[in-house]
This record gives sequence, C-alpha cells and structure tokens, in this order.
Amino acid sequence: MQVQDFIEMVKTQRADPSGRWQERANCLGVDPDLFFPERGASTREAKGVCKGCEVRLECLEYALAHGEKFGIWGGLSERERRRVRRERAMARRLATA
Ligand code: SF4
Repeated sequence: MQVQDFIEMVKTQRADPSGRWQERANCLGVDPDLFFPERGASTREAKGVCKGCEVRLECLEYALAHGEKFGIWGGLSERERRRVRRERAMARRLATA
C-alpha cells in the first residue's frame, strides 16, 4: 500500500481501542534507531517494516493523539503526519461551517 492510499484509508477507518496493539507490532525486536533516522537520512527501511504491520493504523493514531513530532509512526514521517493532521482539521472546520 502506498503512503497516499494509507492516508486515504486513515480517513475512514478507526483504530482498535484495546490499547494492546503494541504486542502485535511488526517492529518488535527491530532497532528503534531505524525509526528515528537522522535528518535527511533514508526512511525507506523503517517504512518497509511498517508496510507489513497489522497495527499500522493504531500506531499512527497513537502518534497523532500524543503529538509525536519525531520518527516514523504508522509508516508515516513527521511531514506526512502533519498532512493528516491538517486534512483532519480542515474536515472538522468544513463539518462545522
Ligand atoms: S506501524 Fe511501524 S512503527 Fe508502528 S508498530 Fe507497526 S512497525 Fe512499528
């Protein structure tokens, strides 16, 4: 699934609220540094781990809810998560207008 497809999916699906999603994370046992690359470094490897993760949506929602500013969460970079936040904010404004 491409990032754009995932961002679209996030608009319609809801994460599992059980809170136990970390136990099913694809990145369990993977070097955490991979998910917090130096500025300008490739995120491809981390995103590759996330791509096959069954709790990707839960991970992304956690990052959005907790304002995680750094790293790859749910397969999205900081910039991509800002985009999701912007789109959600815009959707909320339109819904209340
Ligand atoms: S989406 Fe990526 S960072 Fe999040 S739990 Fe899955 S593998 Fe780990």
